Amino acid sequence: KAKQAGKNAYQFFTDEMQNEVASELALENALRIAVKKNEFQLYFQPKVHAKTHQVLGTEALIRWASPSEGFLSPDVFIPKAEEMGLIHPIGTWVLEQGTKMLKEWQDKGYVNERHTIAINLSMRQLMHKDLIDIISNVLKKSKLAPECLELEITESIMMVNSVQTISILNAISELGVKIAIDDFGTGYSSLSYLRLLPIHTIKVDRSFVQVIGIDNGDAIVKTIISLGNNLGLTIVAEGAESPEQVTFLTENNVDLIQGFYFSKPLPLEEYIKYLKVDR
Ligand code: C2E
Ligand code: MG
Ligand code: MG
Ligand code: MG
Repeated sequence: KAKQAGKNAYQFFTDEMQNEVASELALENALRIAVKKNEFQLYFQPKVHAKTHQVLGTEALIRWASPSEGFLSPDVFIPKAEEMGLIHPIGTWVLEQGTKMLKEWQDKGYVNERHTIAINLSMRQLMHKDLIDIISNVLKKSKLAPECLELEITESIMMVNSVQTISILNAISELGVKIAIDDFGTGYSSLSYLRLLPIHTIKVDRSFVQVIGIDNGDAIVKTIISLGNNLGLTIVAEGAESPEQVTFLTENNVDLIQGFYFSKPLPLEEYIKYLKVDR
């Protein structure tokens, strides 16, 4: 009888919810294993000089091919890794691998010594007490010039406009490492941080590039570009797919363009081939 009552009490806990919990747990377990076994891979996407189409920089983008979960987008597993605290070992690996790869390409002459590698940092990575040590260490280990490393953080991090954020960004900047604001324009934050913080680059979010040629899209993109230009920032447009978008961005003085029009993110061997062709 008690069993019956207990069963009733949990009736609203549907099969669907149960499945969801089970798949969350499976994902968490798989992620723990992935960190242990290092199931991650870096893909690379070029940042191309708008005027000359020369590849001036590369963004490193993490991939996870899980034997049990399949190929998962970082948009799915990075937030999970943040929640679980696993972002720290993962993020350190990305930094190590990214800086090592760029140094190797420079040494082999695939790219010049000013070529940059952009690496994404999530909120919890930025707030980690050892971040500055971790960055210094990967620079030491890779022997990469600090100016060649660019850290991409999203605008939403700026909304937490704390004393802590400011001092971390200043410390990063003092190392000589550059800071880029990713997905710029989507964070609804005050723009004052652009003048208060050591920001080097803004990356115009893909959602704005997508509306070039549609409604007021042109006006918005132009406004963002002139804002960046007036502040002396480097402007990267992300997610450019069509020749019309590339032409518009170039004519309106974007510095660098990133997007499928030039190349999708590629695994290491393919990216090296891409770099070799480009030169
Ligand atoms: P993000 O840093 O804004 O990266 C740009 C995303 O847009 C990438 O998705 C890239 O593949 C995609 N993209 C680039 N060009 C185009 C285009 O022309 N069209 C379209 N439709 N998409 C384009 P991805 O690789 O799935 O990464 C998603 C997000 O995951 C990244 O957004 C970044 O926030 C995060 N992420 C990726 N790698 C890392 C990492 O190593 N660490 C951390 N913390 N986050 C990462
Ligand atoms: Mg990015
Ligand atoms: Mg972005
Ligand atoms: Mg993004």
